Amino acid sequence: MKVGVIGAGTMGSGIAQAFAMTDGYEVMLCDIKQEFADGGKAKIEKNMKFLVSKEKITQEKADEILGKVTTGLQDICGDCDLIVEVALEDLEIKKNIFKSLQSIVKKDCMFASNTSSLSITKIGEGLDRPMIGMHFFNPADRMKLVEVIKGENTPQEMVDKIKAIATEIGKTPVEVKEAPGFVVNRILIPMINEAINVLDAGTASAEDIDVAMQLGASHPMGPLHLGDLIGLDICLAIMEVLHKETGDDKYAPAPLLKKMVEEKKLGKKTGVGFFDYSK
Ligand code: NAD
Repeated sequence: MKVGVIGAGTMGSGIAQAFAMTDGYEVMLCDIKQEFADGGKAKIEKNMKFLVSKEKITQEKADEILGKVTTGLQDICGDCDLIVEVALEDLEIKKNIFKSLQSIVKKDCMFASNTSSLSITKIGEGLDRPMIGMHFFNPADRMKLVEVIKGENTPQEMVDKIKAIATEIGKTPVEVKEAPGFVVNRILIPMINEAINVLDAGTASAEDIDVAMQLGASHPMGPLHLGDLIGLDICLAIMEVLHKETGDDKYAPAPLLKKMVEEKKLGKKTGVGFFDYSK
């Protein structure tokens, strides 16, 4: 099966790796510039080197996996059986990608989006085929869950096919109806937001909030650390979608979260968030 992965950033390269590591799958890893697509493949190469150094795979296998990833612009997707769109979290960008792909790909090529929060139905509006959500988690090459999201016009047959594909690449799919934040983000991000409110209220230090949730709720990582890892800008964007789409003030973004994002303290990716990653 040939899979076109559109967007070779954080998630795109991990998703491309998950497919390429499975027998029978080939990947077209695409971005708006050849160098961005190559950058995504370079990340896979780095991961392959790591796996070889840990003797998890042989050098021969690593070369075979990399050989299954072709990079380019989206016009290399003509032969693809499945498109997984992993570009920016922007409805218009996603809609335009699929609109232009329609005339390039085969009639039976399936369309899926890795959106974290947007409506699958809206992304698929006006297209000549159904749309589905295939929501991977970061880091996509290692995290096991895929939320398979059914839009208003997604046939059950397609849901079943995508679940089978997710299982084949070593993931565990869960079937989710279209709803703000789906399942994981609807529960997880408000919890992180609440931890930020607790910090802002001076109830406990950032370190102690994380220790409390690790030892008191058996979470492998504290909520503030996790927010830093996800990216505080992403956490804010998800809270804004939950707040807007539900109209419920219990999803109002924490004022301190907004302030951190304004100050570009986005977590690990900028070197500082609730914790310091500069060293
Ligand atoms: P990113 O910024 O790391 O990567 C996005 C990539 O898409 C960039 O390389 C960019 O150049 C490319 N791109 C932009 N416009 C494009 C276009 N028109 N055609 C092709 N490529 C284009 O972002 P990311 O964190 O990988 O997120 C991508 C998507 O995955 C978003 O929808 C996001 O909500 C979703 N997502 C992210 C996470 C996460 O933890 N980061 C988790 C699950 C889902």
